Amino acid sequence: MLIEVSQIPPEGLDIDLPPETLDLGTPADLWEGLASVRAVMHVGRSGRGVVIGGTFAGDLLLICSRCLERFPFQAADRFDLYCEVGTPTMAGDQRELDDDELDVTYLEEGRINTDHLLRENILLSLPVQPLCREDCRGLCPQCGANLNLGSCGCRAPVGDPRLQVLRKVR
Ligand SMILES: [Zn+2]
Ligand SMILES: [Zn+2]
Repeated sequence: MLIEVSQIPPEGLDIDLPPETLDLGTPADLWEGLASVRAVMHVGRSGRGVVIGGTFAGDLLLICSRCLERFPFQAADRFDLYCEVGTPTMAGDQRELDDDELDVTYLEEGRINTDHLLRENILLSLPVQPLCREDCRGLCPQCGANLNLGSCGCRAPVGDPRLQVLRKVR
């Protein structure tokens, strides 16, 4: 959704975004590409910029970092942002770029792109190492079986050199 900044009334705007499917972009190895996202936010004007605050909840599929299975995950968080609307890149504007400048990606020619805003906030809220469950047993390092589904029959855990030696002797 695009919000025209110039049409935000002085008292601000309450926005209730219905569930929508959002493309999260290149999936990497962490998430599947699509998320179903709902959000409520308040948009207000402040000085030369806009203040955006609200909450979101998104349902998506993550990929477990141990067993590589996909599992459903709900990302939910709140956000509070300030972005400057200013005229786009004025000549002679020599201000140094700081982290706040990243917020500018939500603004396109005087409009707030809520899709971009939600996408970035969802990605920021994801766990660095997703786990399908706390005690995920991962994959067998020897045969690759998913150990959550049961034992694969491989005996000795690899990585213990003493056991490797024993096995050779036997
Ligand atoms: Zn897992
Ligand atoms: Zn195995």
